[in-house]
Amino acid sequence: MDVSETHNFSNAMGIVTGNCCAYQFAATFESDADFDEKLRFRGGKHFSMGSWQVVSLNCPRAAYLARGDDDLLFEYLRGLMDTAVDIFKVKREWMNQVISNRRMPFATQRPKDPQTGERGTVAVDLEGLVYTIGVVGVNEMVQFHTGSQMHQSKEAWKLAVRAMTEMEIYAKDLSRRHGMTIALARTPAETVVQRFAVSDLLSEEFRDCAKRVVKGDLDTAMKRIQTTRDLPVYYTNGTHVPPSLDVSIYERAKLEHIFFPIVDGGNIFHIFLGESSPDPEGLMDFAMNLAKTTQIGYFAFTRDMTVCLSCFCVSPGLLEDCPRCGSDHLEHLSRVTGYLQSVSGWNEAKKQELKDRNRYSDLG
Ligand SMILES: [Zn+2]
Repeated sequence: MDVSETHNFSNAMGIVTGNCCAYQFAATFESDADFDEKLRFRGGKHFSMGSWQVVSLNCPRAAYLARGDDDLLFEYLRGLMDTAVDIFKVKREWMNQVISNRRMPFATQRPKDPQTGERGTVAVDLEGLVYTIGVVGVNEMVQFHTGSQMHQSKEAWKLAVRAMTEMEIYAKDLSRRHGMTIALARTPAETVVQRFAVSDLLSEEFRDCAKRVVKGDLDTAMKRIQTTRDLPVYYTNGTHVPPSLDVSIYERAKLEHIFFPIVDGGNIFHIFLGESSPDPEGLMDFAMNLAKTTQIGYFAFTRDMTVCLSCFCVSPGLLEDCPRCGSDHLEHLSRVTGYLQSVSGWNEAKKQELKDRNRYSDLG
């Protein structure tokens, strides 16, 4: 259902807010008596969507420690989640002090209803905020554990589904035990896919394991690792298959869609388009197909762009010269996880991922 004049829309899995990094929130008509009012911002009511804290788990590292033993793998993942809960408690204690000293004016303001001009409730429903545990590198975790990436064997793919399901169950258990709502999500991971990969390459204990599964340009990374940590290596985001994977967009959807109902948010399905101008009808058909026949809750079409800073002409693709004025004073734009951003601000790992991405021209 579209809701006119707002940025929210609702589907079977809850609210999707299109102006966010990639989040989907599991509020539904059944779970929230004020759902309709909030969806339409009536009487100043609104959803409070967000977390006190996001903690990302280095999933490949759990596989390095488990050495092929399934039970150990799940035990290490649960251990990482326990550590996340300890961090959440510290954060909440800190935030309680911040709030009681009135040092959070933006989130605690009471915005006026645009229609009536009356002040509504506090902007952020603090008790409604969750604690988010995000996963990174599920593909490299199963790759190390089984010897195959998610797309290479049914066994590897099944292990990824099983691990995510185990973590989902444990997140519910932790929520109950600690009286906090813990959401399992895919971390946006603009930086942490690189940070975890580089940390593991720097570590004597994990270096040899990491070398077997990291994505990107490992040779260059190992040459430069003594001088910088901004290296062109990464783990794959969340539960995705690697960006370079040479499979059809339908095959990619088939591998990734199963994870959407398992996580509480932070998932996104990327369709990186080629340089040619996509046919609008083809895009529409493809989008409807995704919405109707898969469990994908949130997807984005991305076409890379070149903006000329001399004549301000915008062209599709990542170009070396402006096709209108020939200038090389250019800015490249593409999507980093959820947002379109200037590529010049990305770290070396995300720039490498941009090079590695398999782009799709044919959606038919
Ligand atoms: Zn130009």
